[in-house]
Amino acid sequence: MQLIEKNGVLLRADSELLNDEGQAIEIKGLRDAHCHLVWLGMKHYQLDLQGSKSQKDCIERALDFGQNRGGWILGRGWNEENWDDRNFDRHLLDKYFPNIPVYFIRIDGHAAWCNSKALEIAKISRNSKNPDGGEILKDSWGNPSGILIDMALEMINLVVPNPSDVEIEQYILKAIELCLGVGLTEVHDMDVHIGWLPVFEKLAKEKRLGIDIKSYIRAFDEKYLEQNIHPNRINNWYLAGLKFYADGALGSRGAALLEDYSDKKGHKGIVLMGQDELLKKAIAGLNHGFEIATHAIGDRANRMVLDVYQAIRKDKFTGKLRIEHAQIVHPNDLNRFAENNIEVTIQPMFAISDKNMAAQRLGERLRYSYPWKSLLETGANVFGSSDSPIESHDPLSGINALVNSGVPWQEGEHLSWEDAVSLYKPDA
Ligand SMILES: [Zn+2]
Repeated sequence: MQLIEKNGVLLRADSELLNDEGQAIEIKGLRDAHCHLVWLGMKHYQLDLQGSKSQKDCIERALDFGQNRGGWILGRGWNEENWDDRNFDRHLLDKYFPNIPVYFIRIDGHAAWCNSKALEIAKISRNSKNPDGGEILKDSWGNPSGILIDMALEMINLVVPNPSDVEIEQYILKAIELCLGVGLTEVHDMDVHIGWLPVFEKLAKEKRLGIDIKSYIRAFDEKYLEQNIHPNRINNWYLAGLKFYADGALGSRGAALLEDYSDKKGHKGIVLMGQDELLKKAIAGLNHGFEIATHAIGDRANRMVLDVYQAIRKDKFTGKLRIEHAQIVHPNDLNRFAENNIEVTIQPMFAISDKNMAAQRLGERLRYSYPWKSLLETGANVFGSSDSPIESHDPLSGINALVNSGVPWQEGEHLSWEDAVSLYKPDA
């Protein structure tokens, strides 16, 4: 990747961005409206399991990599859909790592594969109950299998040693370097932990943040209230909002659907935060001066968040409200984004990465999934994003997907190059 500057305008040398007349589209710098900076930088220093072909492949990579933070082996990026052996549990990990805790997070961040040592440290046993919004998978003897879903990951997160401030700073600076390398000049950074805020503050004061960063705090525990944290602007850093989760992800069948999953009868996904709780927490955030961004993947989750946001608008709140992902939106709900001035952030690469899995999970509902053009046509304010490090942070991959994902059921939802680029242009 190479960026060239011409009269103060940044252009990509490998640009395939041509308008309908075949002229290059100028890019002054793009915005990624949903990413995870610390994780993006951290990934650079962590065991990478992306593209692994089997369980054994993951284990070989772990043996090569060795231990990282605090004596744990932390990895990220596996996807059993790409493995030749999809029956997996803690036993193979235990064979190679009997005494070192191993914690491997799935590519979408909504499931984890860990060994017995990690379960032991987190005190997860056959007697453990599922936490709200999560699941501890058990084997036929009733013992934890080593696979955890959604909120159950928090039980391990609590006992994994936290990165130091020096490490967090290293991750942020690495992520900024990666962003600049692909022409990003603004990012909206999601799920920022309160403990990282002093590091952002310090880097902002020292003017070491090379891009504009808008931060959204991971806020389900409302610790920001206890610590009395308010929106804040320092140079090009803006602590702007709160991030909540209405449901999980499609891959782990955590996305909340109106009807059963096509590949699991009787299962409609997981609601991580109910309507009353989201309404209460969102209003508290708005009263504190924050924007509200809520993760909603399934059509049931999107409807629920739209109901909550509509109630908020009825109460005359004018603060920014956003839905993150909006992957499956029932056609009856499509107009409600524009009608209630609700912004929506989409990740075009998901349509490509998830195409086989989504077809199995959703069946007929595919025709109203990943509704890019449909949302734009309602007049909704749509932002393009990567959700990196889940997908590549390169905005060109998202723009390419919007123009031609190559996914048959997406054909009607494709955009022109110029419209696609416009979703990634920072506000003037
Ligand atoms: Zn995300």
